[in-house]
Amino acid sequence: MVDNIYVQIRNSKNKALEDKVPIMQDEGINFLTKFIDKKKVKSVLEIGTAVGYSSIVMAISNPSLKIVTIERDEQRYLEAVKNIKSFKLEDRITIIYKDALDVNIDQKFDLIFIDAAKGQNMKFFDKFSNNLNDKGYIITDNINFHGFVNKKEEEIKSRNLRQLIRKIKNYISFLKGNKNFETVFYDIGDGLSVSKKK
Ligand code: SAM
Repeated sequence: MVDNIYVQIRNSKNKALEDKVPIMQDEGINFLTKFIDKKKVKSVLEIGTAVGYSSIVMAISNPSLKIVTIERDEQRYLEAVKNIKSFKLEDRITIIYKDALDVNIDQKFDLIFIDAAKGQNMKFFDKFSNNLNDKGYIITDNINFHGFVNKKEEEIKSRNLRQLIRKIKNYISFLKGNKNFETVFYDIGDGLSVSKKK
């Protein structure tokens, strides 16, 4: 039974990769599940469900965890609903089909996981930090953005990519200067930041 779940997770991951859905790297998801366990996190708000892979892995690894996750792309949302059902996790993972910036929820969470449009990280952080419990955490993925954040601007040929990298760098500065949160940056997976509410 346990083996079956892990085979099922591997199959979901392979399917997402085949379909070119951007899902968390192994190192990143391992860090996240261990973090949830270590900090005794009981509730997560995830911005950016894609097809439900990271939500499913978090829920399977931490059996008392409840997750609310937001996705704005209809195809991905529908695929996520299907995947979550196939793992029988509908009672622990709630998916909201909407642009996260239009979602208003009162609920508070122990952890907010930001993994959506990378240029909007600061907006997600500002909007959802109100939904964080005292001493809660905000984790953001892709802080290194495939190594581009550490490159010189002249080395990045595409204008759109240069703009995106500028926004990620601004977000890093914003986190470093934020007086209400203490942030640690990890060179794990595609780069993660962990911001703790002071
Ligand atoms: N967390 C997922 C995983 O590891 O399995 C991967 C998420 S993927 C990197 C980012 C997703 O965020 C995409 O499916 C995209 O459609 C969604 N997204 C981007 N901006 C969004 C927004 N403003 N509101 C809701 N979803 C958004």
